[in-house]
Amino acid sequence: MAENIVWHHHKIGRAERSLNKQQRPCLLWFTGLSGSGKSTIANALDVALHQRGYHTFLLDGDNVRHGLCRDLGFSDADRVENIRRIGEVSKLFADAGLIVLSAFISPFRSDRRMVRNLFPAGEFIEVFMDTPLTVCEARDPKGLYEKARSGEIKDFTGIDSPYEAPERPEVRLDTSECSVDDCVDQLVDYLLQQGLISK
Ligand code: ADP
Repeated sequence: MAENIVWHHHKIGRAERSLNKQQRPCLLWFTGLSGSGKSTIANALDVALHQRGYHTFLLDGDNVRHGLCRDLGFSDADRVENIRRIGEVSKLFADAGLIVLSAFISPFRSDRRMVRNLFPAGEFIEVFMDTPLTVCEARDPKGLYEKARSGEIKDFTGIDSPYEAPERPEVRLDTSECSVDDCVDQLVDYLLQQGLISK
């Protein structure tokens, strides 16, 4: 870390911003295999929250890799740095008073813990997309499993790179058993129960 950098305390912080927005900021962190439904469910929840009048922001794996993380690949070190940056950006958006939805494979427990530790208790909601690999592979929405099986892509999560499932996720969804609308309802119910939203 660079030296001689002092944290500047701003007068308007997270509490003031969320008061003006009349909502509690939090981060919903969608983790799971490629094709498990992270983007689909995060997008559908984003729409549902937006329609209820909440201010949200959606961060999505592929989009972030076009900009903020375009210099990173898929080595272990680059995956760690990818998640670190996304965690920090998610925190900035939450500090701005937003409900943040982040959809990233994020295969390593330690990386997800690092992001969790950036947030006050109860404001990091780990959503484990627990869709079986066989279903994700059969869907293969981007044709990536086929490429991974043929060796065209290396280090593909679930095939030749590990996925460490969450031990105690706040929400677990299996999109092979649950429709998009039902998944969204479960998430909205969770946010209502926790008092993170009220309508
Ligand atoms: P990820 O972001 O985890 O890679 P995506 O959301 O991009 O996954 O892809 C999931 C695919 O599965 C999409 O093509 C989606 O239409 C399909 N799908 C089928 N049923 C469901 C469901 N119940 N929930 C989410 N996605 C579903």
